[in-house]
Parts: sequence; structure tokens; C-alpha cells
Amino acid sequence: MPDTPPPAPEGPGPDPDPGRRVSTPGGPGPAGAPIAASAHGRPGGGSRRASGAEALPYARERADVVGAVRALVADRLVVGTAGNVSVRTGDGAVAVTPSAVDYGALTPGLVGVHAADGTALDAPLRPTSELGLHLAVYARTSARAVVHTHSPAATALSVLVPEVPPVHYYLALFGGRVPVVPYAPYGGPELAAAAAGALAGGSACLLGNHGAVVTGASLDQAVERAGYLEWVCDVALRALSAVPGQARAPRLLTPAEMAEAVERISGYRPGPPQADG
Ligand SMILES: [Zn+2]
Repeated sequence: MPDTPPPAPEGPGPDPDPGRRVSTPGGPGPAGAPIAASAHGRPGGGSRRASGAEALPYARERADVVGAVRALVADRLVVGTAGNVSVRTGDGAVAVTPSAVDYGALTPGLVGVHAADGTALDAPLRPTSELGLHLAVYARTSARAVVHTHSPAATALSVLVPEVPPVHYYLALFGGRVPVVPYAPYGGPELAAAAAGALAGGSACLLGNHGAVVTGASLDQAVERAGYLEWVCDVALRALSAVPGQARAPRLLTPAEMAEAVERISGYRPGPPQADG
């Protein structure tokens, strides 16, 4: 049954299903093997209520963030500290990955919680340098979760096309089209604004010469969509390269853009929240 739709997300419509298991599109069949569901371990657990052992505010959301990055790593959508994820809390705050912490070492206590304006509410470390992007997306959309990756097919495709070509109906999972936002320095307001604008019209976009951003009604869904987006981008790359003359010259970073990135990345290390950058 080669044309069987993927599990669950057949309908691109409203889809909150927070208990859904995270799965990947991998494998030849559309029914990818489920991977570890993110840490929705406590059915009905309250957002802010600390559970017995750990008196950690926003324990569930922080555990969800850890579960999401582990799923992304297991799915090879994230390596090292690349990419970042966040989820909205019930009271309008955002739990988000910290900057420059290897995701293998990430624990719920290291996940920061920030107000919608970025103010740290409970954050032991500096947040991801893309916190502004996450907050801009929440300000512009009704998304409950944001996943940003540098997954290889999405990143490769981002230098070739202005929009993910409609090679497969899975694009419907993202609202029908996935635009590519022109390159802008990572962590900056220009990139945040452009990504948020692109995501106002759908649940995914590519960032030129950078990666992908996917939103969802839950972290599980956003992680799942990140996998489908990577799969679609991989198919598009194969299709584009299959026909002679279809290949386009990649849009490469200019020397000035690279020099700016070198300077920016030189300060990339974990740090206290006041050293925000
Ligand atoms: Zn990035």
C-alpha cells in the first residue's frame, strides 16, 4: 500500500493531539517506526505543578523540551547543539532549550522558562540564540510549539529554491506550501521577523543557508512535522538532481556573511541568562 498516508497527520487541519506518539517518516513505507515519545509521562499533569520528587516549576513543559530534542537527535534531525525547540506554557510563558548545551546532557532543570518578551522567569542558562525567533513566531501565530533544525536535506534545499517544490502531497501537512526565507544572520531580529512572517501562512518554512522551522499544536506534532519536512526536502533534492539541467547553482554565503557568522559564533558557549546573546 504505497500510497497509504502517514500515521495520524493525514489531515493537515487542526490537530492537537498531545498524547500522540512521535513517529518518523523514515523507511520505505510511510508508517515510520515510532520513536520515543517525548516526556509526556504524567497524564494530565499540571503545567506548573511540581511533581513530588522534583520541585521544578513548569516541570512538564521542560520535560517535554528534553523529550523533543532527544527525539530529534534520535531521528538525526539534530546533531550536537544544532537546532532548538520551545513550547508555550499554559500561562503564556515559553520553555526553551538553552544555548550551547549538548542535548545529550540536557535535563529539565537546564531548560529555561521565559516570558513572552524574553525575560527569564526561571532559567539557569542563557537561552538559545534563536529565542527571538521563537518568540516572534508565537507572537504571530497560534502555534504551541516551535522546532528549529539544521537537518541536512532541508538546509541543502534552502540554497537552491525560493520555496519547497510541491513534489509530494505531504506539503499539505504544512498548509500546502513551505517558503524559503532569505538568508539573514542567525540569532538576529531580521531572521526572526522573516521566519515569523513566513510561518503566519503555514506550519513550516526553510531558512536560507541555515535550516528549517516547524510549528505545531504540541511539541510531539512539531517534531513529527520536522521529520516529514526533512523527508519531503530529501525527495525534492533527489527529483531536482535526477533531470539534467534541473540543478541550479546553490546560493552561497558571501564572504561578508561568513565573516559576520564567524564573529557571531565565536561567543557560542553556555552561559548565565544575563549574558543573553
Ligand atoms: Zn539555526
